[in-house]
Formats: sequence, structure tokens, C-alpha cells
Amino acid sequence: MTKFSDLNLSPKVLKAVQEAGYENPTPIQEGAIPPALEGRDVLGIAQTGTGKTAGFVLPMITMLARGRARARMPRSLVLCPTRELAAQVAENFDTYSKHVKLTKALLIGGVSFGEQDKLIDRGVDVLIATPGRLLDHFERGKLLLTGVQIMVVDEADRMLDMGFIPDIERIFSLTPFTRQTLFFSATMAPEIERITNTFLSAPARVEVARQATTGENIKQGVVMFKGSRRDREGSEKRKLLRALIDGEGEKCTNAIVFCNRKTDVDIVAKSLKKYNYDAAPIHGDLDQSQRTRTLDGFRDGSLRFLIASDVAARGLDVPSVSHVFNFDVPGHAEDYVHRIGRTGRAGRDGSAIMICVPRDEKNLDAIERLVEKKIPRIDNPLTKGTVEVSTPERIETEAKPKRKPASRSRKSENLPKQKADEQVKETPTKTETAPRGRGRQSGGNKVVGMGNHLPSFIALSLDDRRAN
Ligand code: AMP
Repeated sequence: MTKFSDLNLSPKVLKAVQEAGYENPTPIQEGAIPPALEGRDVLGIAQTGTGKTAGFVLPMITMLARGRARARMPRSLVLCPTRELAAQVAENFDTYSKHVKLTKALLIGGVSFGEQDKLIDRGVDVLIATPGRLLDHFERGKLLLTGVQIMVVDEADRMLDMGFIPDIERIFSLTPFTRQTLFFSATMAPEIERITNTFLSAPARVEVARQATTGENIKQGVVMFKGSRRDREGSEKRKLLRALIDGEGEKCTNAIVFCNRKTDVDIVAKSLKKYNYDAAPIHGDLDQSQRTRTLDGFRDGSLRFLIASDVAARGLDVPSVSHVFNFDVPGHAEDYVHRIGRTGRAGRDGSAIMICVPRDEKNLDAIERLVEKKIPRIDNPLTKGTVEVSTPERIETEAKPKRKPASRSRKSENLPKQKADEQVKETPTKTETAPRGRGRQSGGNKVVGMGNHLPSFIALSLDDRRAN
């Protein structure tokens, strides 16, 4: 078996690796480090969790230990699709370069330009950046890329999804033709293939097997769900999500809830919070300090539910979670594998539960083809007659006085089914004395001048309107 000491890394890097507690290189490290140290271009086809970050960071530190940085001319550049990934790569540099003197700067949005300019002015060995922010600095005339000897593109397929490919091409063209390129992507979409054919020169191609599709220790299930009306689908789906969470009871110690769209990430997080679940959202439009706080909270266990988009969660090194809930069926089948791979880590048991609406059935088929098995169908707990899941206490927001749970529950039970559903509608503004009829169903938000007639779109909560 190959050892780290067989890979030609510098003794100082080996020491840091040893201190990190790694015994042997992972396959991507074993494949990528030797050609990288020879100065060759590398095309690594590997996804997160394979150890690919150290696969480029370790040889870079070894190579950059010789030579010195010049003002405004970074010697190497690492491009990452998201701020979190960039920050994670920066942490990797800190870990493995602790016995080597290297300067680095992190150029990501949400951090003031001034601080970043100062670092660049002093000269950096490693510049880690998201593409947009890098080009902003370049256009302000604060940065020259003509000194870049090594350029890394990390998670290229995600860059493609995020529309960064034109930026990447531009950045490539601003760096010297003689640079060494280390390029990583989980998949080789045609557009990625084109970029690598254009910008890499006779690369060593290192491909590691896709993560064992879906671990045996992950219990999977999907609930087939159809909203009673299209304009109610969002809130009913959120109610179902709560029922599924509650159904897992204490087994659900912490969870990531994945949504396909950023707007839904916000809505689901807000809705769960409203029902007193300890939840917070993470996606690309939130400011950096908020994202960092949320992630830190989730990592240290003080936050129980992380509501995330694929892009924000991709590549994040979060500890194992007991549950993954797929609020939506992901549009790319591969994302299903990524998502549920967040649970059941290190041999522990995990659960992955998904909600599938009729229009997502095609995507469900694609997932089942990819993982080569049928995901077990599970009953909708709300239609089994077992659930008044969202007990009235849960609906309370901090601002509202507590209602009396007993009388309200009784009232719900006595109502015809649909009315009972409406009783647990999300916007918790109804009161016991709210009149019956449509005005009441709309959460007690009477609309002056509408009499008893309330158009259904007005009857929706603000969240519903945003969602639909
Ligand atoms: P990555 O794929 O780069 O996101 O790495 C995933 C995780 O694997 C990180 O938590 C690393 O600290 C860890 N890791 C990287 N290389 C090794 C190794 N050779 N042995 C054990 N763990 C590693």
C-alpha cells in the first residue's frame, strides 16, 4: 500500500499530514500528488469526501515552499464555486502549511475589499477565490494574474451549474500560458470536457470511483404526495415535512433538509422556525457572517436543522447527521447521492426521507436508475389518520400568546377533514374566536371590503404567495 512518504512530498508537509492523523493517502491523493509534483497538469475526476482538497493542497505547499511572492502578483490561484468551499480550502492550507512559511489570501464576497487589498499588496503565495470576486479585484486594477504558476479549479461541475464557466475561461486567459493547472470535477459534462481540452495540456487523468452509490446503512424512503390544490401544495408539503420529522422522534438528533430552490430554503426554514423547530437556512444569497454562524451552530450541535440548497451544502465538511430530508426530489440524480451521503457516515446508521410530488416522478425514476434500486415508498403520516401532527402549541410564534391546546385540538377533531387541515394552516394568526367561513380559513386576516368572498390567492399566507 502506498504511504504518504512514497509521494515525494516535502518533510514539512509530511509532518503536518502526520499531525492531522492521516495514515495513508486516499486514491485521489495517490493518483494526483505525484504528477502534480512533477509539474504536470492534472485532471481529477472526484467528488467531495474523497480527500481531493489535500490532493492539490499538499503538492502545492511542497512546490511553493521555494520562491517568494511579489506584491499584487499571487504565485498560485485556487478557484472555488462558493465562499464556504473557498474558506474550507483556506483551512486546509492552514492545517498542512503550519511548518512552512506561506502567505495566503481569501477573496470571497461578503468581506471588505480593503482588507483583501492589503493582503494582496503585500504579496501572496496562494490566492483562494470565488470567480466573481477575483474578477472584481482584477477589474479594480488591484491584482495581476501574470505571476500565477499554479492554478486550481475545484468543483468545476458546480461552477458550470452556477454559470461561472465564462468567468473561468476569462481567468484562464489572464494567467500565463505556462502555468500548471490542477482541475477537479465530480463529473465530466461536455462543457467541462471542452474547457479541459482547451486549457489543460496533456493532463494526468485521475478518476476515482463514484462514492459507493447509497450506503447500506442509510434507511431510505419516499412519500408520494399530491397537494389538495396547487396553491396549497407548498404549505401542505411543509406540514408533511413536519409530520415526517415528528414521526422520527428522538432518532432524529439533527438533520439537513434539502430544497431545490433558494426561495424554498428560506420559506421552509422560516416555517419550521415558526413551528418551534430549531432551524436555519443556508444558501448563496445570505451574507457571509450569517452563513458562517449557521454552519458553526450546526457543526457544534447547537442548531438542529440546517435547511440547505445543493450549492450551499456541496463539499461542506459537516459531521454526520442522523437524517436527511429531501423536501424536493433533486433535479440531478447525482445530487441525491450527494445529499443522502451526509448521513450514515463512518458506519453509523442514517435515514434519508424524501417527498415526491407528481411532477417530480420523472426525477425519482432517474434517481432509482442511478442507484439501481427502488426507494421504498412510505406512507404519508398525515393520511393514515394518526396525526394531528402540528399541535397548536407548535404553531405559536414568539410574538403570539399561547393558545389553549386542548380546546383547539378538540375543535380540529370535530371539523370535517379539510377544515381540520386548515386549522393547522401555517400562519398562526387565527384565534379561537375567529369566525367560521372563508375569512377565517385565510388565517383570520380579513380583507376589508371583501365580505365573505376572499380570492384564494389573497387567502394564502405571504409565504405561500412567495412559494407559488
Ligand atoms: P475532501 O474530499 O477534500 O473534502 O476531504 C474530505 C475529508 O477527508 C476531510 O475531512 C479531510 O480532512 C479528510 N481527509 C483527507 N485526506 C485524508 C486521508 N488521507 N486520510 C483520512 N482522511 C483524510
